[in-house]
Amino acid sequence: MKNKGFETKCVHGAYQAESGQPQNLPIVQSTTYRYYNGQDVAELFDLDSPNHMYARLGSPTVDALEQKMALLENGTAGMATSSGQSANLIALLNICQAGDHIISATNIYGGTYNLFAVTMKKMGIDVEFIDQDISAEEIVAHKKPNTRALFGETLGNPALSVLDIEKFARAAGEMGVPLIVDNTLATPALCRPIDYGADIVTHSTTKFSDGHGTSVGGCVIESGRFDWNITDENGNKKYPSMAEPDESYHGLNFYEKFGEAAFCTRLKAVLVRDLGCTMAPMNAYLTHQGLQTLDVRMERHVKNAKAVAEYLNNHPKIDWVVYPGLEGDKYYEEACKYMPKGAGAVMSFVVKGGRAAGEKLMECLKLSSIVVHVGDIRTSVLHPASTTHRQLSEEAQLAAGIDPGLIRLSVGLETLEDIIADFEQALEQI
Ligand SMILES: *Cc1c(COP(=O)(O)O)cnc(C)c1O
Repeated sequence: MKNKGFETKCVHGAYQAESGQPQNLPIVQSTTYRYYNGQDVAELFDLDSPNHMYARLGSPTVDALEQKMALLENGTAGMATSSGQSANLIALLNICQAGDHIISATNIYGGTYNLFAVTMKKMGIDVEFIDQDISAEEIVAHKKPNTRALFGETLGNPALSVLDIEKFARAAGEMGVPLIVDNTLATPALCRPIDYGADIVTHSTTKFSDGHGTSVGGCVIESGRFDWNITDENGNKKYPSMAEPDESYHGLNFYEKFGEAAFCTRLKAVLVRDLGCTMAPMNAYLTHQGLQTLDVRMERHVKNAKAVAEYLNNHPKIDWVVYPGLEGDKYYEEACKYMPKGAGAVMSFVVKGGRAAGEKLMECLKLSSIVVHVGDIRTSVLHPASTTHRQLSEEAQLAAGIDPGLIRLSVGLETLEDIIADFEQALEQI
């Protein structure tokens, strides 16, 4: 399957029925698995068998989703999680602990920002935020002896900044740390960060991957390229969790034993085992169902989004539009380079008249839904100032880049003329 085209991988990747088997990926809805003898179970506990024992540690349905995500991202292995939040959390906990330092772009998803700035800080992990537009040398200048990862989002949610992945990969390489890229809003249909040097890719599969608003989920994919044996200035291994004996597995060395699948194997065997952030088989099935049409959906999403962005950008009642696919946008060049098929389907815009006008516009929309969600087949809008960021003062909202009248829009798959007509009639009313 590796040598097939992306569309073929979407449709056939990871699960193909053999003669007499179900054509669709089966939902294996069982917590546990039966064995005839204890020796087989012992092998499972020693990670010497690919079979299953207990659904917290994986199931055939979830395995298939992980393999499909790895295939689509040009990675070597994948690990599905209960949500995008847990994907980012365990990707970092796999390689760092209290006392370590991580460098992250500032323009990231609010939930991830909170996780990094508040919750992980309480765990003793120091996440330092940087402007993603500084040079590779300036990024490297933030390195400390205990720096263990560099993090960014391909397409920042909701800032809609585009990450210069090659620059970040260069900086990570110089610092001797992996580059972790959250590819949620771009999806592998528009950008595959591993092709540009990312070591680990994370996803909230809740958004475009599922695409139909049915299942919260996440996934971590590894490139298989990072050398976890790397040492610091004193000759100590920088990633002992990956490349030194693990006491909870009789001294097993994950990197030595699992090589280019070591990162995801440890995620499953240690972090998902201990934290329990497993994806349920039903959610894996529904997400897999969504991925089968990912390529065609994204093609239509970006086509509609570009046209809607141009329409709004030319409308006299609109102050400004941020969409990296618009010529003249701050990130237009990066978008053309990293997402040549289109800059995703999420944009933000501000209606003239500030907050009151923004709220009125949303209430006048009939086809588009007000939802706390992006990446859905249905056109979705959200007014951050009165919802996700409502607890902040207007000053604090502005500091976070949230203009009081700002609306975040995720363009769906309806007929383009109908989406535009919906905005047209709503704009006429304000
Ligand atoms: C939504 C989102 C997340 C969090 O994912 P959940 O599935 O909601 O836990 C993380 N990163 C990005 C970029 C997102 O858009």
